[in-house]
Amino acid sequence: MRALITGITGQDGWYLAERLVADGYAVHGLVHDGDPHVAAVRERFPEVSLHVGDLQDSGSLAAAVAAADPDEIYNLAGISSVAFSWEQPVLTADITALGAARLLDEARLLQERRGPSDGRAVRFVQASSAEIFGAASGFQDESTPLAPTSPYGAAKAYAHQLCGLYRSVGVFAVSMVLFNHESPRRPPTFVTRKITQTVARIAQGLESELVLGNLDARRDWGWAPDYVDAMVRAARADRADDYVIATGEAHSVRDFALAAFERVGIPDGESRIRVDPALVRPGDPPVLVGDASRARAVLGWKPTVTFAELVGRMVEADLPS
Ligand code: GDP
Repeated sequence: MRALITGITGQDGWYLAERLVADGYAVHGLVHDGDPHVAAVRERFPEVSLHVGDLQDSGSLAAAVAAADPDEIYNLAGISSVAFSWEQPVLTADITALGAARLLDEARLLQERRGPSDGRAVRFVQASSAEIFGAASGFQDESTPLAPTSPYGAAKAYAHQLCGLYRSVGVFAVSMVLFNHESPRRPPTFVTRKITQTVARIAQGLESELVLGNLDARRDWGWAPDYVDAMVRAARADRADDYVIATGEAHSVRDFALAAFERVGIPDGESRIRVDPALVRPGDPPVLVGDASRARAVLGWKPTVTFAELVGRMVEADLPS
């Protein structure tokens, strides 16, 4: 089997490459010129073929698809920051919304070229995001109305809807609505990694305080490799559909920080936390939590790592070995 992954240098791309290489796939990755993480991917996965290209450039996508000749296409690339999407809304639309459209259309064209007699289907998996639901209250599932509150969410919502449209004309297109999923591979621009990195430094006496924004925000944090497993299961399912992937448990930023302090043996963690009002986001949804019942029932998927274990693994990885 053969797969093409966009965003292979990101957290999820890395875990997905690991998974598909282990499964015996010929793995191809799309990387953009100047991506600083390409060397690390090349070193870790010498068997993976990397193609230089860009989601803004259909020609480069067509070339990568032709070279990879994939059974499965995973679109994990895109602008991954809500804050950045406000600074660069047009670029976000071009990469995250239209980029998905360009790649999805390459999947359709490949399927057409192969024709019904070939027997080899193309399966397209879009990494969508809970941001498509905006600040919806209660448990969010596949029937939650789309109400994005940022250019990032709007771009992801467009790509999500396009997957549904392509599905309606016979393309195997899956949209995975992923809630926050974390790992030691998360960059410290995300609050989880910022916490574990800083707490590990405090434990070593290298820093004295943890500066955060909204401590009361409650998020549904899962273990990234579990979310990659969900994508693979969806790609291999009998039929294409949309899936919410989440743990169904919400924890506050404060809980995450205190659990990290506890893990390094600092019991009064709260005294080490300082709130900087500049880090508090206007309109930050108080709670975001997903209901992955469909994925559980249809894909046999479930999260394998508890909240405490997730925090523990991330803290351990940030401590010197
Ligand atoms: P994302 O917003 O879902 O992409 O993930 P983040 O990890 O950036 O943010 C998760 C939650 O943590 C949001 O509710 C933030 O407002 C909150 N948060 C509180 N303090 C911080 C901080 O210092 N940095 C970040 N990135 N988020 C913070």
